[in-house]
Amino acid sequence: MKLKKILKKSLKNKKCIKIEDVKEDFLKKAKKNGYKKKESLDFYYSHIAKYLKKLLKDEPVLIFLGTGHALVSEYYNTCFLIGTYDNFLLVDCGGGQTVLRQLKQLGIDPLSIKNIFITHTHQDHFLGLFWMLRVIGYSMIYGRTNTDLNLYGSAQVIERIKVISKELYRENFMDLLGKRIRLHELNDGIRLGLSGSNYTFFDIGSDKKEQFGFKADIGGCSVSYLGDERFRGSETPYVKGTDYLIHEAFCLNKDEPRMQPFPKGHSTVKYAAKTAKKMDCHNLILVHTEDESYLKRERLYKKEAKKYYKGTVFVPDDLEIIRLRK
Ligand SMILES: [Zn+2]
Repeated sequence: MKLKKILKKSLKNKKCIKIEDVKEDFLKKAKKNGYKKKESLDFYYSHIAKYLKKLLKDEPVLIFLGTGHALVSEYYNTCFLIGTYDNFLLVDCGGGQTVLRQLKQLGIDPLSIKNIFITHTHQDHFLGLFWMLRVIGYSMIYGRTNTDLNLYGSAQVIERIKVISKELYRENFMDLLGKRIRLHELNDGIRLGLSGSNYTFFDIGSDKKEQFGFKADIGGCSVSYLGDERFRGSETPYVKGTDYLIHEAFCLNKDEPRMQPFPKGHSTVKYAAKTAKKMDCHNLILVHTEDESYLKRERLYKKEAKKYYKGTVFVPDDLEIIRLRK
């Protein structure tokens, strides 16, 4: 069974890697070679990280654990890893325990995550954190990890982490907060070096919950992210000319009258594409979407975006890896 060959053939030279395709391809070939499904899955989980790590080496990547908005059921809520393999910043955690499943599918140990940034305290971004904390915190308590964890967010995020943790965990966990689980309150415009890259965090000026976005300089590429709200203009210094803009797109333009994204702080594919053009971003990544268009989403969203923007458009699936290239 030449797993190495299968994975290399599937993944080599692709701008983005759909992990589900790799898994299916692997299982099909594994079955032919006499592996039973269960054994193959175990084999997959235990080997995927090793092979992806080998393939991607030190390449900067984005890995989307989820790509949907708050109330989707066909996707996980939008959250992602940014960095190089084994040295990621986790941006948001989605709304539940699925964050652990998504990491497992990629062969990534939650204990390898040292830095987590939470954009805001809405449940689709925030509540998955408490599953990460449960795994990481209790691994600290029971001596299964020596690594410390850093959490980054606004004053509101940091305060809510303390309040909710107190409701959920025992005293031995609470003793870790501020010690091995360090809480870092972000100010508008603060610059930090995290997981081998440079980040500038900024207040996006939300009129709902306090929310931060970032500009990252990673392996020669720049990436801007505005959380789950649309570009308003004040973010221009952080977004202008970035190689990759990650922008939410609640729905297609034709569905705007029915889905009403704008009063919720969200936007449409058309709006996101026009923003990417105006801001001279070379690549546009659309996330935080509806799931009515499931299976057709990538095709329909790209088609609409291309009408207004000439750069490269990505509409990643959950578990898709985007290789960050100049
Ligand atoms: Zn959201």
